[in-house]
Amino acid sequence: MSTNFQFDPIELPPECQELREEVRAFLRQEIEAGTFSPQGGRNDNAAAFARKVGARGWIGMTWPKKYGGHERTHLERYVVTEEMLAHRAPTRHYSTADRQSGPMILRYGQEAVKEEYLPRIASGELCFCIGLSEPNSGSDVFAASTRATKTDGGWLVNGRKIWTSNAHNSDYMIALLRTSPSTKENRRHGLTQFIVNARAKGITKNPIINLTGNHEFNEVVFDDVFVPDSHMIGEVDEAWKQASAELAYERSGPDRWLETFQSLVELVRVSGSEPDDRIAAGIGREVAHLATLRRMSLSVAGMLQAGKTPAAEAAIVKDLGTNWEQALPNQVRALAPVRGDSAPDSNDDRFEEALRHTTLIAPKLTIQGGTREVLRGIIARGLGLR
Ligand SMILES: Cc1cc2nc3c(=O)[nH]c(=O)nc-3n(C[C@H](O)[C@H](O)[C@H](O)COP(=O)(O)OP(=O)(O)OC[C@H]3O[C@@H](n4cnc5c(N)ncnc54)[C@H](O)[C@@H]3O)c2cc1C
Repeated sequence: MSTNFQFDPIELPPECQELREEVRAFLRQEIEAGTFSPQGGRNDNAAAFARKVGARGWIGMTWPKKYGGHERTHLERYVVTEEMLAHRAPTRHYSTADRQSGPMILRYGQEAVKEEYLPRIASGELCFCIGLSEPNSGSDVFAASTRATKTDGGWLVNGRKIWTSNAHNSDYMIALLRTSPSTKENRRHGLTQFIVNARAKGITKNPIINLTGNHEFNEVVFDDVFVPDSHMIGEVDEAWKQASAELAYERSGPDRWLETFQSLVELVRVSGSEPDDRIAAGIGREVAHLATLRRMSLSVAGMLQAGKTPAAEAAIVKDLGTNWEQALPNQVRALAPVRGDSAPDSNDDRFEEALRHTTLIAPKLTIQGGTREVLRGIIARGLGLR
């Protein structure tokens, strides 16, 4: 058996600490101004918030300056992402493009498209969504059947994508589309990635309401939607190589283990400065898991910085991270201080609300971005077991 995993220890350099303070000061200011609440809740300011983050230079941080980027390191980007998530800032308008769509365009997009879109992503103007999943093609993304058929100057798209997060607010989708049948030799052959105008004629977005009662994802139906040739990303029929790279970006960041973190913060708060031994030991255990995950995730950021594509390591971080964050609300519930008969004060309501929200989002965590079983398949391959 061969083990090919690598998790080099990474220490954040001093400039990252300075940057962290800068981001915290910005977020404090935005919280005080009422742009968002670290306790969550409905927020309609995501587009305006994205522009402010863009103006600070915190979107597209690692991209070349010629495309509106800032040529900073993946570790600096990591710090910004971590602070945004820990404060529950409304990043949804720009986070997908910053993490996934922008790097894809940068790596495989045509020059004119890079010049047109990347600066607008970096300024916080454009919102992107991801069109991989279809009703009969989830884990097996290479079974996608939504078609792009060649026409004069471009392609006509017909079919359906599903579970498309934030499609209803998006300007563009990066869609994986069938341009040829698969071949006997390679069942992944025949798919191509395109930038599709998500507001184009022929697109219908049908809301899907999730367990929390919110509209976060959609079914997107394409009826003869025109996409120009210039919006093809990479090589025709060869997307299987690119989609794998995209997933490495999607799986590696702190966004894969900080979604229920708020419940732990609330537990620490309601437990006070002198928790009993049972609670102190429980909090210590959770924080130890968190610290380990964080070091592993940082290590992946370090490898991205070194120009590698650490797909198996990213899969491990996502598998361990999402399992931990999925279990967290239940652990917090079990650890919470026993409440007496006195009427709960407003602080307890905050605790209950955090638990309610994180309990409801927990089931999705091991599905989005690749299911637990699929990730373990990737890990097994990395270990040389399959
Ligand atoms: C909150 C959320 C947001 C999402 N956002 C997006 C988005 O923006 N864009 C997008 O394209 N998709 C999105 N998805 C879809 C997500 O990527 C898919 O749900 C996921 O890939 C699983 O696909 P599926 O639901 O079709 O399940 P299936 O693939 O049908 O899997 C069903 C079960 O079978 C198991 N299974 C499947 N294949 C294997 C295998 N080879 N070995 C072992 N077990 C296997 C799975 O682990 C799972 O338990 C989102 C999903 C969620 C929950």
